[in-house]
Amino acid sequence: MGGAEVTGDALNIATTVAPITNLVALVVGDSPATVTGIVPEGTNSHTFEPPPSVAATLSKADVVFINGLVLEEPTRDLAVANMKDGAVVCELGTAVLPESDYVYDFSFPKEGGKPNPHLWTDPPLAREYVSLIRDVLVSRDPANEATYAANHDKVVAMIDRLDAAMVEATATLPAEQRKLLTYHDAYAYFAKTYDWQVVGAIQPSSFEEPTPKDIAELIDQVRAENVKAVFGSEVFPSPVLEQIGREAGVAYVDVLRDDDLPGEPGAADHSWAGLMRFDYVTMVEALGGDASVLKGVDITVDSADKAYYPQ
Ligand SMILES: [Zn+2]
Repeated sequence: MGGAEVTGDALNIATTVAPITNLVALVVGDSPATVTGIVPEGTNSHTFEPPPSVAATLSKADVVFINGLVLEEPTRDLAVANMKDGAVVCELGTAVLPESDYVYDFSFPKEGGKPNPHLWTDPPLAREYVSLIRDVLVSRDPANEATYAANHDKVVAMIDRLDAAMVEATATLPAEQRKLLTYHDAYAYFAKTYDWQVVGAIQPSSFEEPTPKDIAELIDQVRAENVKAVFGSEVFPSPVLEQIGREAGVAYVDVLRDDDLPGEPGAADHSWAGLMRFDYVTMVEALGGDASVLKGVDITVDSADKAYYPQ
């Protein structure tokens, strides 16, 4: 927070990954502010290097919202090097998560210095992002405070609906079936919230493929833990995970996404909520639960005069 108050011109906002871009766009709603997303959808955000053209976008921004927790260092560095006087970078995840709650794991080992950054896949943490987004927008652009505050409340109400549906869907899964073995480890905080267990993640911190020894151990683990399904990510196609599923004799589901929004731009499901609902339904059904309440949840937010995801 902080930085100069913007008077006259509309606020210029830059953001990084698509789910965060959508949450910002929903709080902005029909205020005069503009939102520009930087990381193209379907890109590996963990290794994304912004092209030089992004410097121009960042140099015009009054506020740059990033996830933080060391997810987007090249973009953050480019922002810091190019931002105008008085502009601010807001690291949402770094701001809302106390260090004592950082999760480190196989894909994000502590010695690598990068905690698991996937806070946005957990509705209560996404709710905190949205409140911080409102606070920063209000501090930079108090003339539109009422708009930001009203939109914030609508987004939070939508997140509450999704959260409640996730609690209900979880209850349809016996505790011993709530086991996630994923390729890309995007559900660490989600799992803590809903009392699921991340039994393993396969992707090494280097984003290379795991070793044959890692694979053999994972196959043993899948059998020992009686995991019902293993989950791949569409951004990281993995023959290895397919092999693990085949050899362990469990379902292999390769459609999870952590920042590639489903649906067409402008549609309600082309959004943070559409993305999360898609993943939750996929996981609950593959593990043998009933996802009907999730499928029926209303994810629309009527703050969105503009497209849900600005292009
Ligand atoms: Zn990710």
